Amino acid sequence: MDVFSEIRPLKAFLSQEKKELNSIGFVPTMGALHKGHLSLIEASRSENRLTVCSIFVNPAQFNNPADLARYPRTLEKDKLLLEKAKCNVLFCPDTAQMYSSQSRVIFDFGELDKTMEGYYRPGHFSGVALVVSKLLNIVTPDRAYFGQKDYQQFKIIEKLVDDLKFDVSLRCMPIIREPDGLAMSSRNARLTQVQRNKAPVFYQSLEEAKSLLRHGDSMKNVRALIAGKMERMGDVKLEYLELADTTNLTPTENVSDNTVLLIAGYVGEIRLIDNLLMKDED
Ligand code: AMP
Repeated sequence: MDVFSEIRPLKAFLSQEKKELNSIGFVPTMGALHKGHLSLIEASRSENRLTVCSIFVNPAQFNNPADLARYPRTLEKDKLLLEKAKCNVLFCPDTAQMYSSQSRVIFDFGELDKTMEGYYRPGHFSGVALVVSKLLNIVTPDRAYFGQKDYQQFKIIEKLVDDLKFDVSLRCMPIIREPDGLAMSSRNARLTQVQRNKAPVFYQSLEEAKSLLRHGDSMKNVRALIAGKMERMGDVKLEYLELADTTNLTPTENVSDNTVLLIAGYVGEIRLIDNLLMKDED
């Protein structure tokens, strides 16, 4: 695997690959890699001659400095996992490479970044859009791979790519879960054993909410039931549970196959998110 920490040599390398007409698949990450990330590498490998993974903990998308400081960083272990997954190129810049000046472009996605993650993490999606724009400009991939795990983020990136006319095809890949249903996340590594045992409640709540809604319960009742259940567990807190339209993420009360349940909350100080499509998997 070729490893680059600077933009210029990476671009020189990739332009050579482009001359040879090798298609480029791109998997942007913040590292502390797990099987969810590796599924994106695998998807990229299956569709492209060359797979580029980036690892960059993007300060602009953290609205909470403590969360940024504590974000797990495991670069050496990540490199081994990427080698094993047969990733071709790793780009791991430092903050100075990615943010050479203080000035920052601010993105506004209208309704799309005012609800859920956008509401509870002000500025988060502007920071995501900024770093994804930079990375797409640097890597200029044919295809870029993201996880359904960050559903709202994928919708924002779709909008970004459409609005700014980035010449890239986007892929949204399924959520990879632990055997007990917990969605894999770099933040899971920070859970104590007791907290880890409680964390699957987010996925279980999505399944429970889906079934209750399908049987005609209202979102209001379902939300209150789940919030109460979490509160009684101790150390677990529901931040939001929303039913939203899959196309524009507008919150709705009307259950249909075109809706998705999205959940976020805390186990101790660790913030977890998850989602579940109302449409049953085939
Ligand atoms: P992150 O390192 O958290 O920024 O995630 C990098 C990419 O991996 C994003 O597109 C995420 O949506 C995706 N991802 C994170 N967790 C999972 C998972 N459990 N399953 C599939 N993709 C994931």
